Amino acid sequence: MRQVRRKTVDPFVRKYLLKAKEEGIRLSWNRFEKMLPQDGFGRLGLTCFDCLQGPCRLNPFSREEERTICGRTREELVFKGLCRFLDNSEFKLNQEDLVQAMENNTGLLGLARGQIEKMKTACASRQVSGITRQIGLGVLKQDYINLCLEEVSPVVMKMVQTLTQDLSEEAISRGAKGFNVVIAGDIAPAFPFASVSNTGGVEFAVLTGLLDLYVVGPNGLGLGKNVVTHYHTIYAEADYGASKIKVKDWLLQAAIAYTKRDKNKILPSEEINEVELIGLDNEQIKTNLENGEIKGICILGGGTNLKVTQDALVCEAVTSIALKDVLCLSYGNTAVTLGKYGYLRGSSPRDSVLVGKGRFPQVECVGGEIDVVKLIDLVESIGSQKIVALFPEPTTARDIIAALTLAGAGVKVLTAINLPLEGSENMTEEIGKLITYCTPSDYVNQSLALLEL
Ligand code: SF4
Repeated sequence: MRQVRRKTVDPFVRKYLLKAKEEGIRLSWNRFEKMLPQDGFGRLGLTCFDCLQGPCRLNPFSREEERTICGRTREELVFKGLCRFLDNSEFKLNQEDLVQAMENNTGLLGLARGQIEKMKTACASRQVSGITRQIGLGVLKQDYINLCLEEVSPVVMKMVQTLTQDLSEEAISRGAKGFNVVIAGDIAPAFPFASVSNTGGVEFAVLTGLLDLYVVGPNGLGLGKNVVTHYHTIYAEADYGASKIKVKDWLLQAAIAYTKRDKNKILPSEEINEVELIGLDNEQIKTNLENGEIKGICILGGGTNLKVTQDALVCEAVTSIALKDVLCLSYGNTAVTLGKYGYLRGSSPRDSVLVGKGRFPQVECVGGEIDVVKLIDLVESIGSQKIVALFPEPTTARDIIAALTLAGAGVKVLTAINLPLEGSENMTEEIGKLITYCTPSDYVNQSLALLEL
C-alpha cells in the first residue's frame, strides 16, 4: 500500500489524528491510500459515463482505440469531462454556452467567465470591511449545541440563523446555553458564524466530540461523513430546496444529540484565531504598486486537497512572499487555512513550526469564496502586471473557475494539482497557457520566480 506524504502541517490536529487511530476511524487520507492507484484513464480525462452503453474509456497509447462506442475522440472526452466538472458548482453553466462550447470543443475559459459573472451579480454590493470572524476548531463551544454548515446555500443559512433564535428555549431545556452555528470551508461575511475549519479539516471538527449537527450542501465534499457514524453527530444533506420544516427538524435532532454526547470522546481544541476582513481600494493599490510601496500582489485561493500535504504549500508561499513587500490577498477556504495559523490581519501569530522568530507575514482577507470576484475586479481595474495567483490545492469546480478567470485576465496562476486533461493535446495546450502546474517541491521557488523576488 502506498503511503500519502505527511497529512498536514497543522500541529493543532495531531491529537485528533492520534484519536482517530485509537478509535479505529479511517479518515479521508486512509481512504485515499487504500484506493491507490487512482483510475489512470480518469486522471487523464479519458473516461465517460454519459449513457448506459458505457462507461467508456480510451487508451491513450492504443491506435486501435481512437473513438468510444458512440464515436467520441480523446479531445471530446476530456473537454466534456471538464465541462461536467465546471458545472458542478452552485453557479451552473449557461446551457446555451455549454451546448455551443461542447459542439465546438473550445471555450472552457469562456464558460468559467460566465460563471464568474453570475457570482458578481450575487455579491455585487457586498461590503465586508471591518467585519471580524473567528477561525479554528476552538470555535466549537462545550456548553452549546454546535451546528456545522458546509457549502449550504445562503437561504439555508438564513433559516438556520432564524431558527436557532426561535428554538433557544429548546436548547436551554436540553441543558445547553443555546445554539452555536459555525461553517466549514469558508468565511461568512453575511452571517455571524465563525469558521471551524477549512474543507480538509472538517473531520477534526467531528473528532472533538462537540459537533451535534453537520449539514452539507449539494456541492460540499462532506469529508466529515467519515467520522459522524462513530459519534453522536447528526448528519444531513441540504439540497437547494431544503424547507424550513426540514431545517427545524435537524435542529431539534441536534438538541437531542447534544444530550447524547459521549464525555469520554470529547477532546476540545485551543485552536482559535480572529480575522478582520478588508475592502479593496483598487486605486490606492495601483498607486502603491506604481510608487514601489508594494512590490507585487499575490492572490491565494483554492481548496484543501489531500494529494499534497495539507496547508503546507500555501503557508510556505506566504512566509516566503509576504515579508518581501508583496500584498497578499486571500478569501474563502484558503483564508480559513491562513487564519488558523495567524497569518490574516487581526490574527494573533501562532507559534508555528513554519515561521521563525521575527517579523510575521500577514495576509489580507477580502471575504468568502464568492468574494473572489473582488480580486478579479482588482485585476481588471489595475492590470495584471506584477500579480500572481497561487492555487496550490484546487479541489472543486469553483477553484478552477476562479483560477481560469484570473488567468484569462492575464494573471500568472500556479497549481500543484493536475487537472484531468492530459488525454487531450489541445486541452493540455489550452489550459497550460493559463494555469501552470509545478511539483510541490518546486512550488514556492516558482512562485518567487514569477514575482521576480
Ligand atoms: S462515450 Fe458515448 S457511448 Fe460511451 S458512455 Fe459516453 S456517451 Fe455513452
